[in-house]
Amino acid sequence: MKARYDCSKCPGYCCSYPRIGVTERDIARLARHFEIPVERARERFTYRYASDGKEERILRHRKDDVFASVCRFLDPKTRRCGVYEARPTVCRQYPHGSRCGYYEFLKFERVQQGDDEFIPSA
Ligand code: SF4
Ligand code: SF4
Repeated sequence: MKARYDCSKCPGYCCSYPRIGVTERDIARLARHFEIPVERARERFTYRYASDGKEERILRHRKDDVFASVCRFLDPKTRRCGVYEARPTVCRQYPHGSRCGYYEFLKFERVQQGDDEFIPSA
């Protein structure tokens, strides 16, 4: 399936989702990538999030100039994933098809503004 979006032209909107869930396997992969113990990776890169009686581990964020906050692994300058080879499964699966809704919106806004690099305010 050919992707009809281009992440290299996007500021990484999907990396600004507040809840980016990770599995134990994802944490182990990140630990291997950074050559640190799994427990250290769990504490350093994720935190426990509870909602509606359910608990999950999600990626930690940091402040960002484009969006309010983004995943701690998004490079603020290049807007690329800093752990691409070791990124969590949910990041590999997104956007679950050949189209990305945000990219469609971004393309439309850039045409309207006549600016190929325009980024709509968050
Ligand atoms: S929001 Fe869409 S186009 Fe932008 S980085 Fe994520 S998947 Fe790629
Ligand atoms: S791990 Fe990479 S792809 Fe996933 S949210 Fe963070 S920066 Fe984005």
